[in-house]
Amino acid sequence: MVVLVTGANGQLGQSLQSICGNYPEFTFVFCSSQELDITNLDSCQSVYKKYKPDYCINAAAYTAVDKAESEPEKAYLINVIGAKNLAEVCKEINTVLIHISTDFVFDGSKTKPYTEEDVPNPTGVYGQSKLEGEIEIKKTWEKHFIVRTSWVYSQFGNNFMKTMLRLASERDTLSVVNDQIGTPTNAVDLANALVTIIKSNKEDYGIYNYSNEGQCSWYDFAQKIFEVNNININLLPIPTSNYPTPAKRPKYSVLDKSKIKDVFGLEIKKWEELL
Ligand code: NDP
Repeated sequence: MVVLVTGANGQLGQSLQSICGNYPEFTFVFCSSQELDITNLDSCQSVYKKYKPDYCINAAAYTAVDKAESEPEKAYLINVIGAKNLAEVCKEINTVLIHISTDFVFDGSKTKPYTEEDVPNPTGVYGQSKLEGEIEIKKTWEKHFIVRTSWVYSQFGNNFMKTMLRLASERDTLSVVNDQIGTPTNAVDLANALVTIIKSNKEDYGIYNYSNEGQCSWYDFAQKIFEVNNININLLPIPTSNYPTPAKRPKYSVLDKSKIKDVFGLEIKKWEELL
């Protein structure tokens, strides 16, 4: 069983690399953006011809949420055309596509966890591009799992946890927003969940939510990061209005994980435990 991973040098890609040794029954092929540019159909086709993957995990994406507001064409090229290209080549050789999407497809107006049936309504270019990528996949190739996740962090790449640790080494006081609620997701934990989907061999294709359990604000998340790292810092809660960003973010984006737990028998740990 060959599992191709795109975007191999991103945080999810590197997290998959860190766990692939635990699954000797699979042959993992990791492709960086240089080896496989998902925006280029020829590049996708030649890589698929070479490796003939049974599964493709698309860990490639344009993920710069704020920058996307000023370069929407690039975000759309990678998140929409890239996703469509992969769905097309998957269809050509009957590869199951596991695509990663985001809680940012929602506008955050709910106060209860979002289910897969809730209607998306992105508040920014990044979320809109991810939503349109989902739509292209659904239109193109039925054998897909679209896994929506949230607040991904890891030891790899850029993420909120690493930003907090860096800022704590530079400053005595830090202000973090406390009125956006969501759930952190450990990228290695997400990587294991994706492999569980493959291992199950199930054909219950469609959209699934996956994050860690529980919920918190970015302020709570920062507080816990400093606590587990024994860092003393003056941490101040602030409203979003005091921290304007180019992209508007959902106020609330907790995901309901009932479906993925039921279908794949996953037991999900609390975000605090995994930090
Ligand atoms: P990263 O930004 O860490 O990694 C994305 C990777 O995609 C990079 O290695 C990048 O390569 C690669 N890439 C960009 N353009 C292309 C291209 N044209 N062809 C091939 N590869 C390309 O993302 P994450 O690992 O954090 O995110 C993984 C998935 O999870 C994404 O789909 C994202 O939307 C989703 N997600 C992430 C969240 C988060 O908090 N990070 C939250 C919710 C969902 P290079 O560096 O060479 O450009």
